[in-house]
This record gives sequence, C-alpha cells and structure tokens, in this order.
Amino acid sequence: MTEKTIFSKIIAGEVPCDEVYQDSKCLAFRDIQPQAPIHILVIPKKAIPSLKEVSASDKELLGHLLLIASDLAKKEGLENWRTVINTGAEAGQTVFHLHLHVIGGRPLNWPPG
Ligand code: AMP
Repeated sequence: MTEKTIFSKIIAGEVPCDEVYQDSKCLAFRDIQPQAPIHILVIPKKAIPSLKEVSASDKELLGHLLLIASDLAKKEGLENWRTVINTGAEAGQTVFHLHLHVIGGRPLNWPPG
C-alpha cells in the first residue's frame, strides 16, 4: 500500500489543520509555512498525486477546485493573488497530493524562482 500523504491524514482528521472551507469534494486550509499574508491550500478529497495523474473524469473536480480558490481569495479580501500548482519535485512539489496554492496579500514578483 502507498504511504498516506500528510494531506490524506488531514482529510482523515488524523492531523489538524487551520481549515477555512470544506465540502464533499474538497478541503481548504492555511499553509503551515505561509509565503505571504494569505496562503491557502485547496485540495481535493480524492487522493490524486499531482496534475500529472489527472484524467478527463476529473474535469468537474478540477473546475470545482478553481472556483473554490477564487471564492476563498475574494472572501479573504484579496484583489490580486496567485494560484499555483507545483507539479513534480523539480517544480517544487513536496506533498504528492494535488493542491492549489492561493497566495496573496503582498506584491508578487514574476517570474517565480
Ligand atoms: P508544494 O511544495 O507545492 O508541494 O506545497 C506543499 C505545501 O504544503 C507547502 O507550502 C507546505 O508548507 C504545506 N504543508 C505541509 N504540511 C502542512 C500541514 N500539515 N498543514 C498545512 N500546510 C502544510
């Protein structure tokens, strides 16, 4: 059996999180090491390792995650924000459970490192 990720443990309630939203398909919580004043992670409850492993059957779920990210950013009062999905270790992915970062509350430079 594959080892559970920290995010699967959070979904299962085995590890606490600073939850901001959840529904039947996703959970959103504050990043433990925020990179900006607002840093929220939106994750599907389905354990998809990364954007590499998605398929057409995930179309609705992926759209849902983006809509929730947008709603939460606006609820946090953000006018400008960045939505990031790191895919693969060399792109900065450290937790292999798909997640969207919603980052804002300070000026954000481009390109990212
Ligand atoms: P990534 O590097 O794109 O895979 O993002 C993983 C993110 O998860 C990082 O920003 C971590 O700070 C965050 N993280 C890891 N463990 C936890 C946790 N227990 N609660 C909240 N955020 C976490």
